[in-house]
Amino acid sequence: MSNIRRGLPLTSSRTEKIFPVLTPAQINRIKAHGHIREVQSGELVVEQGDINIPFFVVITGELEIVRPFGAQETLVTIHGPGQFTGEVNTLSGRRSMFRVRVTKTGKVIELDHQKMLGLIQTDTELSDILMRAFILRRVELITAGVGDIVLIGSAYSADTLRIKEFLMRNGHPYSYVDLERDPDVQNLLDSFQISANEIPVLICRGQLVLRNPSNQQTADCLGFNESIDQTQLRDLVVIGAGPSGLAAAVYGASEGLDVLVLETGSPGGQAGSSSRIENYLGFPTSISGQELAARAFNQAQKFGAHMLVAKASRLVCDERPFVIELENGARISTRTVMIATGAQYRKLPMENLSRFEGAGVYYGATFVEAQLCGGEEVVVVGGGNSAGQAAVFLAQNAKRVHILVRSAGLTASMSRYLIRRIENTPTIILRTQTEIVTLEGDDHLESVYWRNSQTGQTEKHEISHVFVMTGADPNTRWLDGCIILDDKGFIKTGSDLLPDNLSTSGWPLMRQPYLLETSLPGVFAVGDVRSGSVKRVASAVGEGSIAISFVHRVLQE
Ligand SMILES: Cc1cc2nc3c(=O)[nH]c(=O)nc-3n(C[C@H](O)[C@H](O)[C@H](O)COP(=O)(O)OP(=O)(O)OC[C@H]3O[C@@H](n4cnc5c(N)ncnc54)[C@H](O)[C@@H]3O)c2cc1C
Repeated sequence: MSNIRRGLPLTSSRTEKIFPVLTPAQINRIKAHGHIREVQSGELVVEQGDINIPFFVVITGELEIVRPFGAQETLVTIHGPGQFTGEVNTLSGRRSMFRVRVTKTGKVIELDHQKMLGLIQTDTELSDILMRAFILRRVELITAGVGDIVLIGSAYSADTLRIKEFLMRNGHPYSYVDLERDPDVQNLLDSFQISANEIPVLICRGQLVLRNPSNQQTADCLGFNESIDQTQLRDLVVIGAGPSGLAAAVYGASEGLDVLVLETGSPGGQAGSSSRIENYLGFPTSISGQELAARAFNQAQKFGAHMLVAKASRLVCDERPFVIELENGARISTRTVMIATGAQYRKLPMENLSRFEGAGVYYGATFVEAQLCGGEEVVVVGGGNSAGQAAVFLAQNAKRVHILVRSAGLTASMSRYLIRRIENTPTIILRTQTEIVTLEGDDHLESVYWRNSQTGQTEKHEISHVFVMTGADPNTRWLDGCIILDDKGFIKTGSDLLPDNLSTSGWPLMRQPYLLETSLPGVFAVGDVRSGSVKRVASAVGEGSIAISFVHRVLQE
């Protein structure tokens, strides 16, 4: 028997935007896209885990949205006449997190997934109402920790942090149960026959128990990829969903291209690990990288772009259409390719580094990491803007932030506004000509030794959190000689490709490569991965958008 306990507690006062009641005129316009369905009390119209779920508008009667967990159900909300179902997964076609049941016999308008997308793309007023409600509902679910998964983890486990970050950066709501802090944890472990040393564990839809799942297994369990046809020949495959790849997806899909984005982690790329982007046009009070990515991701989906959580492991350059091989062996065919794989932080040259990655050594400073080091001393390594931002952000909660740089100062590497902010924050200490030489600890980092190259002095500090932000290397190794790179491994494009480069690569066309086109016609590179790019969000977004006009030209050749 189901046991309904409570509705989702709303944290926002914007109830009328989250659960709007449509006007008769708006309902009539939706009717034109779908069909009327008579529904009976008790009928299930969506089961948890269904993909490409339909969208319903209630005309008469009532629908309830519940989250099942084992034999129990938690009431999320009830939709009455004029209200509609759905949240972000309704847009993406991903698995439904909830069950939708008729609680009062009546009539609904039903639109299948494609028709719902058609409605959103053609009716501006309804698009605004629906998109806003879907996004706000998702925000509420994340805030309340109400979704289709439960994560049992520990604050001392690097894999717990990895899974939390993956879920957070993919904007997927989850309930978290902490091994050390939650009094009910033993009951949960017993009921799923999990032992404490198997942590972290993910319980999917109350049924599937995954022990320390990889990001790919987590994505598979959530059905991130299920609604996507991987056999279809695409106009454009974008590899990487950082700012440049997301911009390409939005512009490409909005201009009618069939776009598939491949992303090995989560939307946002490096920018997604930034807590506060202050210099992106149009956001005078800053925006977090994650919020920017979530907005762009929803925008791309609104225009019909698809995103597959998968790692591109090879570009088959001698086949046309192009083929991209994925790590799991699948092959994706496409007429054009956009490489937007960005760059990855350099690592500290320490043998035992991997032991502490995620357990005291971090490569991003977001809310998740900041929670781990409140009231403690932390180290930020690096003198660029990302290091400066991280220091200022962490200083809000940390007792003290030490910035370690090898150079004599920050002026050559950091924007003036950040330097000023650092100077004005008394809890931030800049240590120039200093680098970390040793990390110590058992399961978690416990102490850090740093050395001043001018004095030659080494100091030991009891510090358990180090944020490494020391420049980045391009993600191009997977290209394996397919495309001309510069001496640092970044992709050469357009006029940077010299006649020698073109003859080495066997450039087959009379025309020269377009701006942002690589040494392989029809393959473009944008953002941080491109040789000579400006390593900024705005330029990555600009390049991803501009490149689409050249994709159109190639498709017409
Ligand atoms: C902490 C931090 C703060 C920053 N703050 C600012 C700021 O305030 N202002 C500013 O302008 N810039 C800032 N930057 C720089 C900015 O984030 C980057 O310039 C921008 O993210 C580059 O975008 P991109 O799309 O080219 O690449 P990336 O952001 O690097 O994204 C590349 C994506 O490709 C994916 N990928 C890589 N290889 C594969 C593969 N084989 N298959 C599938 N997917 C793959 C990655 O997972 C990643 O998501 C910051 C960077 C960091 C790290």
